[in-house]
Amino acid sequence: MSIEPRRRKARILATLGPSSSTAEKTEALYRAGADAFRVNMSHGSHQDHRAVIGHIRSLEAKLDRPMTILADLQGPKIRIGTFADGPVQLKEGDRFTLDRGDAPGNSARVGLPHPEVFAAVEAGQRLLLNDGKLALHIDSADSGRIVTTVMNDGELNDRKGINVPDAVIPLPALTEKDRRDLDFALDEGVDWIALSFVQRPDDVAEARRLIAGRAALLAKIEKPRAMDTLDGILELSDALMVARGDLGVELPPQKVPRAQKEIIQLARAAGKSVVVATQMLDSMVGAPSPTRAEVSDVANAIYEGADCLMLSAETAAGDYPVESVRMMNAIALEAEADPEFARHVHFTRTMPQPTTADAMASAAGQVLQTVPCAVVSCFTSSGSTARRASRERLPVPLLVLTPNLETARRIGLLWGVHAVHTRDVSDFEEMVGKSRRMALRTGLAVAGDRMVVMAGVPFGTPGSTNVLHVARIIGDELQDGDRQAGLGMAF
Ligand code: PGA
Ligand code: MN
Repeated sequence: MSIEPRRRKARILATLGPSSSTAEKTEALYRAGADAFRVNMSHGSHQDHRAVIGHIRSLEAKLDRPMTILADLQGPKIRIGTFADGPVQLKEGDRFTLDRGDAPGNSARVGLPHPEVFAAVEAGQRLLLNDGKLALHIDSADSGRIVTTVMNDGELNDRKGINVPDAVIPLPALTEKDRRDLDFALDEGVDWIALSFVQRPDDVAEARRLIAGRAALLAKIEKPRAMDTLDGILELSDALMVARGDLGVELPPQKVPRAQKEIIQLARAAGKSVVVATQMLDSMVGAPSPTRAEVSDVANAIYEGADCLMLSAETAAGDYPVESVRMMNAIALEAEADPEFARHVHFTRTMPQPTTADAMASAAGQVLQTVPCAVVSCFTSSGSTARRASRERLPVPLLVLTPNLETARRIGLLWGVHAVHTRDVSDFEEMVGKSRRMALRTGLAVAGDRMVVMAGVPFGTPGSTNVLHVARIIGDELQDGDRQAGLGMAF
């Protein structure tokens, strides 16, 4: 089944949930422009998630394109207990107590099943509930009770999250639930694991040990403390997420745009994926069109050169999941078509490191400035060459050929990358020939176009990319070479 080539450079990561978890809806999201899918372990059962992952892998086989699946671990999120009679309405000035009791709550108290919070907070600090919509001022706290005054009118419901921005709570990087979810996700063969509420590089190191190379690792930056050790966290991660939902509760919201720029810059300089997330088209949860401010926010993240933009409730639980993806796709394409786009993206300087791979990637950019080429191709087994070339933010699509299906799936979060899982090649001639055929078959080039092939000689040595070849594509190229041989091998 052929589908239009996707020329968009930034990737779209769509969260799946009740609004989108059938096979049909997942396919509709893909066709509307979703490149990768997030399975949120904070909601749903393993059985639900297994079904969703199955739909994505079936779609992958049907469309013969590698698909990227990210399993997002809930992390040590602090939540209140439940209420006896549904939601309670709290009024400014009310007294409200959190205690260690198991009894269902009411408008005067609720249980808080996290002893570590009682030990860490002090009078004068704030508790923010329900994504910051409700603020409580702590009047007194001891090992069994936190007595507060309600700072604004608001509703509180079962198991709402609490943020404690003024205290450092000694939270484990991975809860027992996270460990079970991690085992499950790795067994299901997901490509990425996202780690929530990372506070320090050690949190990432621990997850890395458990994952042991079976998936790539994304660290969600949503704690102010993580901003203090960003370099160390980045070094141990394969990608970062600007997780603006929780970050904007824990930090004053006006500090989030600056944090977003800092995170994007650091990740881009390191050649690692960076995902901008949360409330990107939030009003589309309940309406068929976004606000102007949301459109601007999405466009600006594209201009900042983020690898990937995420949709959360818009696609997981909203009324307009497909429309949200379509809208994000349209905004990204428009920004990327701006003649000034390259100038904006290269405002963030990513100087080549002193390696041959970086020299080749930046030289490819130079070639494109002199001779018009439709596409740049490269070969990679580990994905490393693709990451270094993507980092250059080249003006044409990057066609990445890899014999490794895991790599083809993982690099789906990288800017500008079109991954093709293909048979291995054994010499330079074959590399060039295959690049030309793939460029045609993916529709990224037509007969007569030129292309740049990044290759490695001698062949088969990892990290050996050291040749830049400019090839011309001829029309009858499709007739020779590879035949279809199953998943991702069509090319
Ligand atoms: P979440 O993470 O959707 O899992 O909370 C993203 C964020 O906090 O922005
Ligand atoms: Mn979060």
